[in-house]
Amino acid sequence: MHRALRWTIICAGVAAGFGGRIAETGQTRPLVLEHVRIIDGAGAAPVENGRIVIEGDRIVRVGPSPATGAPANAEIVDLAGRTVIPGLIDSHFHIEKDPKLALRQLSHGVTAFRDPGQWDEAFEELRRMMAADGIPGPRIFTTGPHIDGEGPAYPADSVVARDAEEARRHAEESVKRGASALKIYYRLPFASAKAVIDVCNAHRIPCTAHLELLDAREVIDAGLHGVEHVTSFGVSLLARREAEAYRQAVLANNDARRDGRYRIFAGADLDGPRALSLYAVLRERKPYLDPTLAVFERRTRPQGDANPDLTAVQVAGFGKMKQLTRRAANEGARVVVGGHTEVPFAARGEAPWREMELLVESGFSPLEAIAAATSTAAGFLYRDRELGSLRAGFKADLVVLRGQPDRDVTAIRTVEKVMVAGRWIDTAKYRRY
Ligand SMILES: [Zn+2]
Repeated sequence: MHRALRWTIICAGVAAGFGGRIAETGQTRPLVLEHVRIIDGAGAAPVENGRIVIEGDRIVRVGPSPATGAPANAEIVDLAGRTVIPGLIDSHFHIEKDPKLALRQLSHGVTAFRDPGQWDEAFEELRRMMAADGIPGPRIFTTGPHIDGEGPAYPADSVVARDAEEARRHAEESVKRGASALKIYYRLPFASAKAVIDVCNAHRIPCTAHLELLDAREVIDAGLHGVEHVTSFGVSLLARREAEAYRQAVLANNDARRDGRYRIFAGADLDGPRALSLYAVLRERKPYLDPTLAVFERRTRPQGDANPDLTAVQVAGFGKMKQLTRRAANEGARVVVGGHTEVPFAARGEAPWREMELLVESGFSPLEAIAAATSTAAGFLYRDRELGSLRAGFKADLVVLRGQPDRDVTAIRTVEKVMVAGRWIDTAKYRRY
């Protein structure tokens, strides 16, 4: 079937209310991406002259061109000189009140995201826009609101649990409403955090956390699957007395953490006994780590700096955050990419790109940074048998780049085409969002 005709049918299907079925069954000619460099997202060396065969919403064959059969009736797209990577997965995207930003990120190659703490109602407008445009992505993964303790950091985005039983009930309710992960927020006491982790394990979904008060070692040992923000390791790096002073300061005022974590990191000994005991837990449990470096990035401001002392602490602290991210990966943490929506040194919709660049600045190879944004992130979604890699049987979510991001990660910014579920996205349209 001609692709324009197919598009019409898909749109008609969406309008009729069963677009998902028609879009996903893919009654179309196979599509062949020909003469393309392939980066599989799982860390393998690129295939220089590759072929990807897509039928419906899935990849059916992928490999070197001469060895990969193409169906006789296929539509051929010659992508000589281009590199294809799996669609990027943003593990930490706050939709807030800006659904257009998710579509702008889609035009930048972000074909899936997880919002780590939001009411379901916040996604209604994005879903409506996607249905109106007849597009199958970005794939949306939700966690429900943060599960926080009393005095929540972000009251509007949280449910408050006053004890473990309330935490368990909130967790069950979010799962019932479609959460594919749960997010512990930092004022939640330990027993309540454990109750949320237990609900996640019962439903086989990941539990992730933003920590400031609890010791990451203890929560990871209790079964926590993922950690948002490298700063969640902060109190684990401090001696017990200093950790308690920080905890009490944050308990008294949530804003104490803002400069406080730069001070913790600036003074942290990443080879000291506290850090070493954290690494031992990472080696044993191999949690996911979503460092969100881009939101913490600080640079020296040469002139007109109102508070040069604080800037110096922030720059030093940020340097240690990068070091700890690399060290945590070396010790066994599975690092993913979370762009965190708006960050100091990236333009609108470019936070995931900046995060990948910062991973490379932290010592990751470009292929490792790509894996963090694709196959490892799919693992953190518990969807790594169909998302995050260019492999036969996987969903056809992919990005065509003019540059070669395995040689220079900044080439991640050279997005030419984006595909979700076997369908090209109108990137020119969403770049204006
Ligand atoms: Zn966040």
